[in-house]
Amino acid sequence: MCARTPAKKTTRAARPAPELIFGDLWTFDPAPETADPRLQPRYNLYIGGKFVAPRSGKYFETINPANEKSLAEIALADASDVDVAFEAASRAFPAWSRLPGAERGKYLYRIARLLQDRAREFAVAETLDGGKPIKESRDFDVPMAAAHFFYHAGWADKLAYAFPGTQAVTPHGVVGQVIPWNFPLLMLAWKLAPALATGNTVVLKPAETTSITAMKFAEILDEAGLPPGVVNLVTGAGETGAAVVAHPLAAKVAFTGSTEVGKKIMRATAGTSKKLTLELGGKAANILFEDAPLDQAVEGVVNGIFFNQGHVCCAGSRLLVQEGIADAVLAKLKNRLKVLRVGDPLDKNTDVGAINSREQLEKIRRLVAVGVKEGAELYQPPCTLPTEGYYFRPTLFSRVQQSHRVAREEIFGPVLSILTFRTVDEAIEKANNTSFGLSAGVWTDKGSRILKMSTELKAGVVWANTYNKFDPASPFGGYKESGFGREGGRHGLADYVKLS
Ligand code: NDP
Repeated sequence: MCARTPAKKTTRAARPAPELIFGDLWTFDPAPETADPRLQPRYNLYIGGKFVAPRSGKYFETINPANEKSLAEIALADASDVDVAFEAASRAFPAWSRLPGAERGKYLYRIARLLQDRAREFAVAETLDGGKPIKESRDFDVPMAAAHFFYHAGWADKLAYAFPGTQAVTPHGVVGQVIPWNFPLLMLAWKLAPALATGNTVVLKPAETTSITAMKFAEILDEAGLPPGVVNLVTGAGETGAAVVAHPLAAKVAFTGSTEVGKKIMRATAGTSKKLTLELGGKAANILFEDAPLDQAVEGVVNGIFFNQGHVCCAGSRLLVQEGIADAVLAKLKNRLKVLRVGDPLDKNTDVGAINSREQLEKIRRLVAVGVKEGAELYQPPCTLPTEGYYFRPTLFSRVQQSHRVAREEIFGPVLSILTFRTVDEAIEKANNTSFGLSAGVWTDKGSRILKMSTELKAGVVWANTYNKFDPASPFGGYKESGFGREGGRHGLADYVKLS
C-alpha cells in the first residue's frame, strides 16, 4: 500500500492573486454619450410655479468639473427670495394638503414618468454638472430618482395603512430642505417625494456646484401641472441654505450634507418647534472575513469606495480585513485598481469620473498627504489623468492605524484605508470606533456571523455580502454624528407627518 502524499497545506494568503491586465491588452475606443442635455444658458429661481429672477439680480457660474468650463449661470437667492418662496409654499399648503391622497399620488406618478421620458437628457446634465460617470447617472441616479417618486406615489392614498393604530396622519406644513452635491437629483427625489406624498409643501435649496438638474426638474413640475407653490426651488450658496433653515414658516427642516453644517443647523433650530432630520457624514467599515468569497468581496469593496469617486456619505472608506487574508486582499485590490478607467465622465467606459469641485479635490489631496505623513502605505495605480479638470487617482492606504486621520475623517473621495483585525469582537470594536454611524458592510459565508454583526454594528444600514444597495422601500439614515431620521420606506414617511 502506497503512502498517501500528505495534503499540501495551503492558506488563502499564500495563493498569488492572478493579474488582470485588460487595460494593457485592449485599448478602448472613446464611447461618449451624445444625448443633448438641453441646458439653458441661465437658470432662474422656481417660485410659485414660475421661473423668476433673483431680487438681487445676481447670478453665479456653474462649471463642468471634468474640464472647468462654464455650463450655465445660476440665480443667487438671498433671504428676500427665500421669504417669497416660503410665502408661496405657505399659500399652496391648505389646498395641497386637503387634496385626496389619490390625487396627490397622480402628480407623483406623472413626475416619475416624465423623468423616465427624459432620463438620458437628465443623466447627461447630471454628469456634466457633477462629474460622475455617465454609467452611474444613467443606471443609478436617474432611475432611482424616478423609483422614489413611483414608490411614494403609491403611499399617497394609503397613509392610514402606513401607520396602523393611529387616528390621523397630518402633514407638518411647509418643509425647508437643503441638499448636497454628490447625488443632486437623487437627493432632491429623496426629499421631495415623501414630503409631497404626505401633503407638505416645500422650499428646497440645491448645492451651489450642482443646481442644474434641480432646475431642469422644475421644468418637469411645470409639465406635470403641479399646483403653483407646492415646490419652490431657491439656488445659491451656504447663506441661502441658512435662510431656508432659519425661516419662521419652516415647520420642518430636512438636511443632507456635512456633519459640520448639520451641527450648525441643529443650533439654528434648537428651541424652535421645527421638526428636524439630518443625514450627515460617514466613515463606514466594510468588514471582510477570511471565509468570504474573496473575488466577489473585492468587487464589493471597489464599488463601496470608488462609486461616484467616493463622494458618498455611506462609502465603505475603511476596509477591515481579517489578518490571514490581508496580503491576498491587498494584492487583489491593487490588480483591480490598475484596470479602473479614470477620465471623461461622459465616456460610457469610465469607472471613476471627475472630483466635484476644486475645493473638494484640494481637501482630498490634503488628507492623503496627511495619511502619508502619518506613516500609512500609499498605493495609486499608474493611470494617466486628463490634463484639464479635477481628477484624483483611486488610492489605497494599507498599514493604517485606528488613530490615523485617514481612518477617522470623512475624506469624501476615492481613498480607501485598510486596517486589519483577528477576531469578530475586534472587528466590531474597530468598526464602531468612530464618531459616525451611517453604514457598514460584512462579507462572510456564515449567516450567524452576519446576524451578530448586524446587531452589534452601530450603523443605520448594514449590508451583508453586498454594498451600496438602495431601494425606495428601505429606510436609510444614521446613528451618532451621521444624523437622525430616516429616508425611504415607512420610517421615511413618518418623518414627514404628525401622528395622532
Ligand atoms: P455642506 O454640508 O457644506 O453642504 C450641503 C448643503 O448645505 C449645500 O446645499 C450647502 O450649500 C448647504 N449649506 C452650507 N452651509 C449651510 C448653512 N450654514 N446652513 C444651511 N445650509 C448650508 O457640504 P459641502 O458641500 O461643503 O461639502 C463639505 C464636506 O461635507 C464634504 O467634504 C463631505 O465630507 C461632506 N458631505 C457629506 C455629504 C453627505 O451626503 N453626507 C454630502 C456632501 C458633503 P452650498 O452648496 O452652497 O455650500
